[in-house]
Amino acid sequence: MRASPMLRLRHPVALLLICALVLLGVLRSFSAPEPLGADAPDVEFSALRSEAILRDLLQAGVPHVAGSPSNLVVGNRIISHLESSGYEVDIQSRFHCNPLFGACSPVDNLIAIKPGSVGKNAVLLTAHYDSGWTGPGAADDAAGTAAVLEIARMAAAFPAFVNDIIFLLSDSEENGLIGADAFAQYHPLFAKVKVVINLEARGTTGSSALFETGEGNRGIIRMFAKNVDRPVANSLVNEIYKRMPNDTDYTVYKRKGVMGLNFAFSQGVAVYHSAIDDPDHLDIGSLQHHGDNAWSMMKALADRDLEHIISREDAGYIDVFASRLLHYPSSIALGLSLVLGVWVLIAIGIAFGKDLRIWQLRWGLLAVPFLLGSIVLGGYLLSFPLGHWPDLHPIEHPYPWVGRLALFGVAVLSLYATLKLFVGRVSPSAMMMLCWGLIFMAGMVLVSKLPTAGHLTLIPLAMFACGSVIDIFRKKSPAPLLMATVLGFTGTVFISFYHYFMLDVVLNFDRSHFKIIPLVFMTLTVLPLLLAFVRGRELSWQPARWLLVAILLACLVHLSLPGFSPHRPRGMTLMYSEVEGSETGYVVLESLTTSFDESYANGHGFKPVVLDNGWSQASERPARAVPALNLPGVEVKAHSVRHKETGWSHRFVLHAHEGLEFLLLVIAKESLLDKAWVDGQLALDTSLESKHQRQDDSLRLVNPDKSSFEIRLLARSPDAISLAVVTWHELPKVLVAPFMRNWPENAQAVEYGPRARKVQHITLDAG
Ligand SMILES: [Zn+2]
Repeated sequence: MRASPMLRLRHPVALLLICALVLLGVLRSFSAPEPLGADAPDVEFSALRSEAILRDLLQAGVPHVAGSPSNLVVGNRIISHLESSGYEVDIQSRFHCNPLFGACSPVDNLIAIKPGSVGKNAVLLTAHYDSGWTGPGAADDAAGTAAVLEIARMAAAFPAFVNDIIFLLSDSEENGLIGADAFAQYHPLFAKVKVVINLEARGTTGSSALFETGEGNRGIIRMFAKNVDRPVANSLVNEIYKRMPNDTDYTVYKRKGVMGLNFAFSQGVAVYHSAIDDPDHLDIGSLQHHGDNAWSMMKALADRDLEHIISREDAGYIDVFASRLLHYPSSIALGLSLVLGVWVLIAIGIAFGKDLRIWQLRWGLLAVPFLLGSIVLGGYLLSFPLGHWPDLHPIEHPYPWVGRLALFGVAVLSLYATLKLFVGRVSPSAMMMLCWGLIFMAGMVLVSKLPTAGHLTLIPLAMFACGSVIDIFRKKSPAPLLMATVLGFTGTVFISFYHYFMLDVVLNFDRSHFKIIPLVFMTLTVLPLLLAFVRGRELSWQPARWLLVAILLACLVHLSLPGFSPHRPRGMTLMYSEVEGSETGYVVLESLTTSFDESYANGHGFKPVVLDNGWSQASERPARAVPALNLPGVEVKAHSVRHKETGWSHRFVLHAHEGLEFLLLVIAKESLLDKAWVDGQLALDTSLESKHQRQDDSLRLVNPDKSSFEIRLLARSPDAISLAVVTWHELPKVLVAPFMRNWPENAQAVEYGPRARKVQHITLDAG
């Protein structure tokens, strides 16, 4: 075989340097900025000033669910902050139900307005101030609330903008976006709102990323790129989020066709909705980023003609090292992919045409699947020591770097094995044609399905094409296409690392075969470069053996690292559960998203029990039988059925105990429930399509300030309706005290927290 003229890489270490520099840049996209001090000029958002507000709002360790006395305290403190900034606060107060989720609670939305000079349209800057059932909710969403309050204070000193600015601290988001729905349905100001900025959290640290926008975002993305100093956004995240069962207040406004920017930080998810989501666990840098994003975009939108804020098309976008946002209209993605891809292949053809042999491709066609297959298989095998044997949170690891290194090691090992097996069998130029051809083809398929994900391949192809232009003008280039291949490789390193860390926020090591996939990309473009480098050299298996030993060592070290820590706790709650009519109740070790502490469970005599939770799917949890407490339940009175054109209408009165905090009504799917009303208000409409799919339908009442309700159910089935009614009561301390003494320090109550639950089954007779 004639020696290839390409790529006499004299310094392959340069490739490692490129990887290291790109890695550092990409890590910037996932970390929060330095917070500004309280002495920062008043035209800049200061996280320390905002943090002082946040600490003032919260009561140490106290959750404040919508409708609770503690939430009233938080609401009053918000009002005094707004008033001291010179605003008159409008309180939208009502008992409201969001028919999308079948969820009802009292709502006190707090609204302040900075009138615009024209004031025909408005920008809505919003965050929710209620918390979940455990912890004071410092990150979710007191951080957003404190950022909005600080921005409202700063904006007060500004001369009027063109548009109105509405500051909305919404209530009862956690129970089903109830406050936002009340605002959109009943508040007269909503008609003016043309764009929403929403601040949220799904963790306690990391950058505040733009993770969701409205449809037709081309124009607003251009504004975001121009006005925000530290943009963090990827249109692929927007696409993935659309397909995830998660919601925020913005869901309500987006469904009504309002444009919006939705920001959240999402690392430290083990603390999210836990008892330690408090100010001491909040990354103040994340608060800074929230504030910077919202303040910049609010000012930009405040003077903008909002009539045309919705564009005819979406944009694809990705930030480069959180310092610049690359964006493109989705309509050009396919054409651009085609042009760049053909350019790249022609450039390779012209540079190495004489060297390309078709028969070599058969070895290349074997080398590529070997490389990809071995990386994914290696990831799968490592998922056992890294993720299956250790006791881990399902999404996040507190000490991830050793595991990450092991996965990088697998990618390098697969690359070395491919080189060893195929060197001399396939020429670097044939390999190059094949690998870039593959990227081009993959890009075309991706873009035809999802144009806003085009940058995954557009960036490497464009960098290769730019490099090829430089190569043409470089007179003394040591090899054809040297610049093109190195720049193209750099493009894939960027895409690989960015998406590796992006997936890292939603996958733990038990799914290492998925986690490792982004790394495939960069190995494809480095393969021809390395083939050229090792050509003619004798490769031994020895380096591969050492690499394997290093990977195994990393696995051992990883196995010795804890999957939970006091600052990244497992979610574990002690609660009590009983079913009416049963003599036995249970103390239950509850865990919603994570596994329980087995040694604690065994040491305290908890055994797996199938528990009736009211839903048609029972749950199995570690539990200990105790004599039933016989908690007060509900009574159904004055039931009547009428046949209507649309179905069977059941009416009844539900009597609960005084001071009711939570009531859940589960209606089995077989009843074919259409709609439900609470005290005449539409509370559930099953024809509305939400991102959640549940087996049963349900109605939830949270902290209603009364104990008797008139319920109407409209069902399409003529049969009797079986209801499960779940009520929550205070958990008697004496019941759980014996188990709390050795409570593991890496476990914290999560989601619904300690409570006593009563389940009742009630049948509503057929008509
Ligand atoms: Zn939230």
